Amino acid sequence: MTNIAVIGTGYVGLVTGVVLSEIGHTVTCIDIDEQKVRTLKAGKSPIYELGLEELMVKNIEANRLHFTTRHQEAFQNAEMIFIAVGTPQSGSGAADLTYIQQAAKDIAQHIMDDVIVVVKSTVPVGTNDLIESIINENLQSNVAVNVVSNPEFLREGHAIHDTFHGDRIVIGAESEEVGEVVEQLFSPLKLPIVRTNRRSAEMIKYAANAFLATKISYINEIANLCEKMGANVLDVADGIGLDHRIGRAFLSPGLGYGGSCFPKDTEAIAYLGREHNSPLTIVESAIKANFRQRELFLQKVLNYFNDNVEGITIGMLGLAFKPNTDDIREAPSLYLIAELEKRGALVKAYDPVVKHLKQCVETVDDVLNSASAILLVTEWEEFSEYDFSKNIVFWGRNFN
Ligand code: NAD
Repeated sequence: MTNIAVIGTGYVGLVTGVVLSEIGHTVTCIDIDEQKVRTLKAGKSPIYELGLEELMVKNIEANRLHFTTRHQEAFQNAEMIFIAVGTPQSGSGAADLTYIQQAAKDIAQHIMDDVIVVVKSTVPVGTNDLIESIINENLQSNVAVNVVSNPEFLREGHAIHDTFHGDRIVIGAESEEVGEVVEQLFSPLKLPIVRTNRRSAEMIKYAANAFLATKISYINEIANLCEKMGANVLDVADGIGLDHRIGRAFLSPGLGYGGSCFPKDTEAIAYLGREHNSPLTIVESAIKANFRQRELFLQKVLNYFNDNVEGITIGMLGLAFKPNTDDIREAPSLYLIAELEKRGALVKAYDPVVKHLKQCVETVDDVLNSASAILLVTEWEEFSEYDFSKNIVFWGRNFN
């Protein structure tokens, strides 16, 4: 049993903390967001994620899971500290490391004993080295700190499942011994382990996300061509997906990828390529194709209304960037709402879990009964049960 602190209680930090406590470790999660910590202490999950709240409450009650806003409290007995703070996109496309740098300083200023720092946040190659030097430069006591890269591969909407049943755990360490300690920590999960150095681990995460994003853009461009040539892209996806060298996953055509990972991670790795004069032209194209996909969809809607949606009510089904999550970061829905409203349309939207936008209405029927056209933007399972035969529907996603 290890005493662990987790910095950041977002999708990654909270799920990590809950799962580590579930496999027997004692975990204290720290966040600077006081409201979030109050919610967590009350046994409520601030995010929508299947099975998360139940597991969280179970481990709070077992006294293995704690929440705080105070670094001293979180770090006092910690043998390992996980960093799971955000790494958003900066203006240049590069990852913004402000939160990471602050977390490193917080660690340096509060630890009193040797510690292994495990970096779960998605960070550009070389950032683990940077974290180690920031900590060492700011240390207040004579302790040893080792930094290990352990990128996260969970999917929002399946986060708990993915943490218990992931395809692999990547551990990037500069010391064999320290890597072994982290490997032991995860051993109850019985998942394949990839051991490597820190820079390779950091690269694995970006290379994986950029590949998956590229696969999405690829099938979207094939879909556009299929539409013009009378081919059925879903059959094409099945036909090529059965080839085990290709695989069917991520071959679902639609409005393109959104969310808090693919958009920023593709931009960040493309930036790294440009910065190091080793251009990632395929990833750059995938990014452009992804944005074009939204524009093409919008254009189809506008064409239907002869380029004039002034005063027209447009219904939107789904706001989240994908089903089973409440995350709307970089969601295509936000782009579509902004573009339609800019042209004078009135947007009414329904999403099973996203309820806080001003466009939100109570029920699917509120959308179906009042809109001149429906945009199916997120393929929530419940939408597949509706009869859309009386509506004009623009299918931004398929149910399959
Ligand atoms: P998030 O924005 O949901 O959560 C980050 C949390 O960190 C916030 O609650 C914030 O208040 C807190 N925080 C920031 N600075 C802090 C500090 N100094 N001390 C304590 N708390 C602090 O982020 P997320 O979606 O969980 O992503 C975290 C990282 O994991 C990112 O690098 C992301 O790219 C990566 N990642 C995310 C996913 C995903 O599906 N969301 C999957 C894999 C990897």
